[in-house]
Amino acid sequence: DISTPGHEPRTVRAPRGAELTTQGWQQEGALRMLMNNLDPDVAEHPDALVVYGGTGRAARSWAAFDAMVATLKTLRDDETMLVQSGKPVGVFRTSEWAPRVLIANSNLVGDWANWEEFRRLEELGLTMYGQMTAGSWIYIGTQGILQGTYETFGAVARKRFGGTLAGTITLTAGLGGMGGAQPLAVTMNEGVALCVDCDVTRIDRRIAHKYLDVKAENLDHALELAIAARDERRPLSIGVEGNAAEVFPLLLERDAPIDIVTDQTSAHDPLAYLPLGVDFSDMKTMSEKDPIWFTEQAQQSMAAHVAAMVGFQDRGAEVFDYGNSIRDEARKGGFERAFDFPGFVPAYIRPLFEEGLGPFRWAALSGDPADIAATDRAILELFPDNEHLRRWITMAGEKVAFEGLPARICWLGYGDRHRAGLRFNEMVASGELKAPIAIGRDHLDSGSVASPYRETESMRDGSDAIADWPLLNALVNTASGASWVSIHHGGGVGMGRSIHAGQVCIADGTELAARKIEAVLTNDPGMGVIRHADAGYEHAIDTARERGVRIPMNEQ
Ligand code: NAD
Repeated sequence: DISTPGHEPRTVRAPRGAELTTQGWQQEGALRMLMNNLDPDVAEHPDALVVYGGTGRAARSWAAFDAMVATLKTLRDDETMLVQSGKPVGVFRTSEWAPRVLIANSNLVGDWANWEEFRRLEELGLTMYGQMTAGSWIYIGTQGILQGTYETFGAVARKRFGGTLAGTITLTAGLGGMGGAQPLAVTMNEGVALCVDCDVTRIDRRIAHKYLDVKAENLDHALELAIAARDERRPLSIGVEGNAAEVFPLLLERDAPIDIVTDQTSAHDPLAYLPLGVDFSDMKTMSEKDPIWFTEQAQQSMAAHVAAMVGFQDRGAEVFDYGNSIRDEARKGGFERAFDFPGFVPAYIRPLFEEGLGPFRWAALSGDPADIAATDRAILELFPDNEHLRRWITMAGEKVAFEGLPARICWLGYGDRHRAGLRFNEMVASGELKAPIAIGRDHLDSGSVASPYRETESMRDGSDAIADWPLLNALVNTASGASWVSIHHGGGVGMGRSIHAGQVCIADGTELAARKIEAVLTNDPGMGVIRHADAGYEHAIDTARERGVRIPMNEQ
């Protein structure tokens, strides 16, 4: 049960300012980031403890949340709290160098790793779905995914459209916590985005947060707006209410001039995908009443949805799976050509992963936007020659509305992340920043995830499903002194399809924090370099050689 008596939903907001409510900043960082994940400005459905990504939760129940908060408040600098799928299960004496929190979410033994078994256990109150940054307390609102989405659409622009999306129309669906970044990422790349969602409140929310420009009255209106903007090469994002499984085939039938097609509905969880013939208002009751029937209906609808995507590809559009496993669900729904288009990682992101590049992020525990503005300036000073980074940081400063604690994301690679972390730590020490900074990343990173339909799809050596890498990643981050470390199963693409790890470091201005940050922020992206070098990617092998990442087998 989400709510046990005495532990009802309430409005959660992280403390702000430089005063501790716990025994130290490492604990305070964990407390504030846990609370921030559930802030109504951050979480998609805070009452149900759902942060984003279908049912990705920060805590298993309100009772578990209360116990974690109470424990973090008294936790000492040499103690570690253990969290098992969103519930605190133990506190052990460790050391100052050890993480203050260790988290394992949604992990199931291989043969049992499916949604049916997961839901049975969830129903019994034994587990929760942690998604990626929901259960590991480093979700920073839709901005977190904005940079990655901006990078992806930038790569699409470079690959197919001469470096800009100006004069193109992108069709997509899903305006949730992650998917809501798509419209802004497309307009940041100067294109037009046509975004379908069956939940009109998500469209309104994205407009309120400035991620989406306008809401169309209906599909005709949406198409009219899109074509007019495209013809003027004017960036515009348009939300339209509808079921993607109906709208995509309709647009294909009408021969709509779509250049790029993708999707970010919550396809990884068939109970979070609205099937054809079901009213959005009945979705929750019907999925609860008969999950097996609902799953079949959702998979059949995804088959129609993906068939339209393949149809657009046949007509020359650039089509890709955006990491929600819709191809596999469509295949299960009976569509044989579901894997005709690639996933976005092999198509655009892998070369970045090869050099340990990935989504570096940080949040200002002070709550003061001026602290993020100061770190933005620090990033520009640290990396003056990186034009792409400059463009992003400048645009993000202008266009990104903060949700919850002010935060920033940018992609940095091996050799650069620890420099940024150390600089932030100095800024905390000198008083330039008003309070410490929480530095973390998505689990979708170069060396922290095994996910054969997404991050590790089509690895050169066929090692897509090898999950030793994320486990080693969590172990090395624990050994290196991260403030909290997590191991999850099923994030992004759903049960049975991924294993991944996260880490967060609190830059509290101390010498000890500096030593930990240097180690974690070197070794964590280093995992990406060695993982890709091991798979035979030359760029990763060269990166390791040039930047001194040791790989024993290459030293023989
Ligand atoms: P979410 O649950 O917050 O949002 C999903 C949205 O899809 C909701 O607004 C819902 O109303 C809408 N939707 C559901 N069925 C629909 C249908 N048939 N037609 C139209 N709209 C429909 O999820 P999210 O956090 O936005 O994540 C979306 C997906 O992307 C998930 O599968 C997630 O695992 C995946 N994901 C991708 C990345 C990436 O980097 N590409 C990262 C994280 C998550």
